[in-house]
Amino acid sequence: MSTHTVVNPATGQPVTEVPSTSVEETDVLIERAADAFPVWRDVAPGERARLLRRFASVVDDHVDELAELEVRNAGHTVANARWEAGNVRDVLNYYSAAPERLFGRQIPVPGGVDITFHEPLGVVGVIVPWNFPMPIAGWGFAPALAAGNTVVLKPAELTPLTAIRIGELALEAGIPEGVLTVIPGKGSVVGERFVTHPLVRKVCFTGSTEVGKGIMRGCADQVKRVTLELGGKSANIVFADADLEKAAASAPYAVFDNAGQDCCARSRILVERSAYDEFLERLETAVRGMKVTDPADPDSEMGPLISAQQLENVSGYLDGARVAFTGSAPDAPGFWMAPTVLLADDPAARIWREEIFGPVVAVMPFDGEDEAVRLANDTEFGLSGSIYTSDLGRALRVSRGIEAGNLSVNSHASVRYWTPFGGFKQSGLGRELGPDAPNAFTEEKNVFIAND
Ligand code: NAP
Ligand code: MG
Repeated sequence: MSTHTVVNPATGQPVTEVPSTSVEETDVLIERAADAFPVWRDVAPGERARLLRRFASVVDDHVDELAELEVRNAGHTVANARWEAGNVRDVLNYYSAAPERLFGRQIPVPGGVDITFHEPLGVVGVIVPWNFPMPIAGWGFAPALAAGNTVVLKPAELTPLTAIRIGELALEAGIPEGVLTVIPGKGSVVGERFVTHPLVRKVCFTGSTEVGKGIMRGCADQVKRVTLELGGKSANIVFADADLEKAAASAPYAVFDNAGQDCCARSRILVERSAYDEFLERLETAVRGMKVTDPADPDSEMGPLISAQQLENVSGYLDGARVAFTGSAPDAPGFWMAPTVLLADDPAARIWREEIFGPVVAVMPFDGEDEAVRLANDTEFGLSGSIYTSDLGRALRVSRGIEAGNLSVNSHASVRYWTPFGGFKQSGLGRELGPDAPNAFTEEKNVFIAND
């Protein structure tokens, strides 16, 4: 059987071997998930809710273990990894309320009664990238299971360990066999089979825009439902009237968190010209102060990049770029890179247009609100963004003007599981999280019952 060697990105050393599932084995697991579907769909809503809460509780009992796995497998800081495992628990708890609240409607019509049902789809295929292995898995499987679907989940080949463990924890919690199946392997094998196998009724994909477009094309063949969470090149807009100290102190975390490997990274900073010099000075202090250390160190604020390949890709963006200043990185084996701040003056430059997906940010000055919105929107992406200002009217105008799915004002946090998450333009299709997520894993069925 072929296997993949999982590598610790902080050291470059092998951690373990994980089997690479073949197409034939994937088919068997998809068929098993399809067999489990009617059973899971028919579990009484209150019982499905109870099982999901128990699953959440078992995850909670294993937060430290899951976090430790993620530190070793993905190089996430231990503080982040704990948050990520806790997010799986919270998202399961949140959607455990859904089975008992999957309401339809009663619609007034002549001649009878009309009611709607939210019917589960069947088997849902969740394809997860390496950058946030735990949360992105949970955002897919928790609402999908709550709505009565069974799930096959493919973790990224580079980062399968936490997903495999979460699959075991589901069984431990009493979730029946075949309801949540983690299938490690290659995207071109397992992921592609989710797209082509007729028993998979929806693909929920997070990853690169390029692969996402191929998935959408492939799903068209069977008019398969698809949700896409793709790349970003989000703007952090700092107006001169903002609390500059706060804006500069938070800007590094808005882009360098997870070593910049975050689809929501605010990798373009736009600063109103009159505040530009002061902001840059404060930003330099903040960036130099970032603790880029062994991710297992509880104080670590940034770990390594995921792989040697990613380090090479990201470093390539520095060729010919104007580096304003950098932070530090350990001089150690592993895929380390210092947080790097670039000066930008050309909106056509690669560093300004392409998702770098590493600890690199570009800063550009602007003049006035209109120009800020125009520059922020001058991208094919539209995932997230931040606006720093003390003017409430401006905060609202600019928020409405920006073509992106997730904005924060005087904050850099984009993900709250209570609220919808997803992209405009080429950043994606559909929404995850928030109160409506389970509906995205259902078909609305309308039933008319005649009076006579
Ligand atoms: P990717 O290639 O899009 O991979 C994402 C997931 O899709 C992985 O599980 C991957 O499997 C799978 N996959 C790959 N090819 C597939 C196919 N033909 N059919 C079905 N599934 C397939 O992304 P990546 O290689 O991890 O990263 C490349 C770039 O994507 C990054 O540098 C970044 O720009 C972007 N990215 C964005 C996000 C985001 O959250 N928006 C997340 C990760 C990456 P494997 O395990 O075989 O790769
Ligand atoms: Mg790839």
